Amino acid sequence: MTDLLVADARIVDGTGSTPFRGAVAVEGDRISRIIRDGQPEPVAARRIDASGLVLAPGFVDVHQHSDATPFVEPGMGSMLRQGVTTVVVGNCGTSAYPFEGAPERAAAAGADAAALGLTWTRFGEYLDAIDRSRPALNVAALVGHGTLREAVLSGDQRRVPAREEMAGMGERLRDALQEGAVGLSTGLIYAPGMHATADELVELASVLAEHGGLYASHVRGESDHVFDAVTECIEIGRRAGVPSHVSHLKVESRPMWGRAGELLALIDAERGRGADVTADQYPYTAWETELAAALPPWTSPQELPDVLADPTARSRLRSSMETGEPGWDGLGRSIGWDHVVIGAHLPAPEMTGRTIAEITAERRLEPFEVVAELLLADPYTGMVGHGMREDDVRTIVARPDVFVASDALAVSPDGPLGRFAVHPRYYGTFARVLGRYVREERLLSLEAAVRKMTSLPAERFGLAGRGRIAEGAAADLVLVDPDRVRDLASYDRPHAFAEGVELVVVNGRVAWDGSAGERAGRALHRGEP
Ligand SMILES: [Zn+2]
Repeated sequence: MTDLLVADARIVDGTGSTPFRGAVAVEGDRISRIIRDGQPEPVAARRIDASGLVLAPGFVDVHQHSDATPFVEPGMGSMLRQGVTTVVVGNCGTSAYPFEGAPERAAAAGADAAALGLTWTRFGEYLDAIDRSRPALNVAALVGHGTLREAVLSGDQRRVPAREEMAGMGERLRDALQEGAVGLSTGLIYAPGMHATADELVELASVLAEHGGLYASHVRGESDHVFDAVTECIEIGRRAGVPSHVSHLKVESRPMWGRAGELLALIDAERGRGADVTADQYPYTAWETELAAALPPWTSPQELPDVLADPTARSRLRSSMETGEPGWDGLGRSIGWDHVVIGAHLPAPEMTGRTIAEITAERRLEPFEVVAELLLADPYTGMVGHGMREDDVRTIVARPDVFVASDALAVSPDGPLGRFAVHPRYYGTFARVLGRYVREERLLSLEAAVRKMTSLPAERFGLAGRGRIAEGAAADLVLVDPDRVRDLASYDRPHAFAEGVELVVVNGRVAWDGSAGERAGRALHRGEP
């Protein structure tokens, strides 16, 4: 018996091949049949007329930070309503496993881990907890190098790990890979990832070679040092003998503007020399992160009182943040303080949306002093940097092989994060590519865009049987109105759902059809069919 039939659709199957008219039948959690136009349709418990609409595999978002959100926001609305059916969490060096430190991270995402009874010692138990939360979307996870390092290294992180500490990190990673983790992530502009040498990362990444999985990196700099940083990422993969992946590829400093094509050429050249490297991108000209990332590696929010009190350290902090230092980019020079916008700031929500330059002028302070004050009041203050240029974003969007990924958390206007400033990519990423860049600007074909949202990322991250419309594949589907799909979220009004996504099916169940349906997502284990 066919449970669901999506009929009369224009099918874009995720492989990049020419769209065709037909119907897709679903039985249980699988695609049971593809019926070409003209062939008789099976009788189905539910038949959806999709004439005029595009049916694609559900989108696979390999750069997500929804590690804890299934426990507080299981509807995962902002992603569901863009047509995403699978997310990969644990990016940029931070993950929910190992558990040491997880309560603090859950709190930062708006959850009280203890109250929710969230504890796990093994990676597999984390995936079990995801399953118990009944998320709307499928969730796969990387293991964050920063989280591993904090779990194993006690005391100061600004050092080379001892032998037994390297072994401890490797052991935890090995266990997680055996229990379904899809790889290792690093965040090399954040503490403690920034304190790791390439040798440390190669040694740890080598564990991936034993079990499969990829090395995904928020590279060591995306401003003036982006060429060296991307090269380092590729080199780590090569030395460890594992696939490497550059997260949220971009050029984000004024001196680098206009050079996205050169960066892509660097990747192509490395591939020509045998490197196994891929990348993803979110289609916006601003990034979002924590304000603490504005501090150079030698200090931290906790150490600011001492730094500010010591004249030598204070002037070093000023010059580092203004002009940078060897191997590290200062925001003042790279994008300018008028392009740095304050994000969520709990002690004074009215600061959100203002630029560092504005506050600097108003308070007659220097930018580094404003940043320090904000961080002293709230070390988790967020920031948005309008640091990229549209032509560079477009150059990368146009590439058929760079995946679309959001770098978001799944949120909703009514959820626990609904009152905070978030980046519009949380709601708009996939719809923006389809609406703005495919329909309006014709930067790439619909089938090429769908391919980099589906089969390419699913294959690369070991999500077997997903990302394609094929008989026997997982029934993760999205039905899009190609004339209407668009993002509505803006920097000023980010909590706005995308438009034009008519139906989302997750594991054969209708998750969205104009109103929220079943929550049928599950934790995915690497390579599991
Ligand atoms: Zn990142």
